[in-house]
Amino acid sequence: MVVAIDGPSGAGKSTVARAVAAALGVPHLDTGAYYRMATLVCLEAGVEPGDAAGALRALDDVEVDFTPDGHPTLAGRDVADRLRAPDITAAVSIVSAHPEVRAAVVAMQRRWVASRGGDAVVEGRDIGTVVFPDARVKVYLTADVRLRARRRARDAEAAGASLEELVAQMERRDHLDSSRSTSPLKPADDAVVIDTSGLGVAEVVGRILDLVGMV
Ligand code: C5P
Repeated sequence: MVVAIDGPSGAGKSTVARAVAAALGVPHLDTGAYYRMATLVCLEAGVEPGDAAGALRALDDVEVDFTPDGHPTLAGRDVADRLRAPDITAAVSIVSAHPEVRAAVVAMQRRWVASRGGDAVVEGRDIGTVVFPDARVKVYLTADVRLRARRRARDAEAAGASLEELVAQMERRDHLDSSRSTSPLKPADDAVVIDTSGLGVAEVVGRILDLVGMV
């Protein structure tokens, strides 16, 4: 059984997805990590983020995996902290917009879930629409952009940026992610939309577990 959790950055996906996965006793997959790894591979290979063919070539022989506690690895190197650095965040929406890159990455994500027996909580932007359109439960988390930026300001990813800068960065990334032609960020038609603005983590997790119990 797949539980799909989509939504923009800072809506609470990671915290909520991890807690739902722990409650259900199934693995959790952060699909954004794949696009961030693809971006890191490009930057390290000297490939411009806008170069689709170069990005695909750079991705060709990379070995993407996760440690048992969920840290992304590239050829065995733990890149969890590196992936949250500002240069990756600034370029990731350009790399992730290439249809060729998405096709390769989506195949890796489906293989990961299949290798775990098909049960997982999967978070991202296109999980309910494209990666697992038959997911048993689909949730789209959202929140006011200023609140999302305030949440992000507490992360290392913010790297000392002001609230206004974080709002501008988020609006830029939201725009790129929701206006791309392949797999844009949007709720699936059958997703339950939850605005997390006034809600605590436990409340959001409880609502999702209720949905899992209902189906
Ligand atoms: O969730 P996170 O902030 O790590 O995602 C980084 C970027 O990866 C997003 O802004 C988006 O461009 C891309 N992404 C995507 N599809 C997903 C997950 C992430 O395009 N399923």
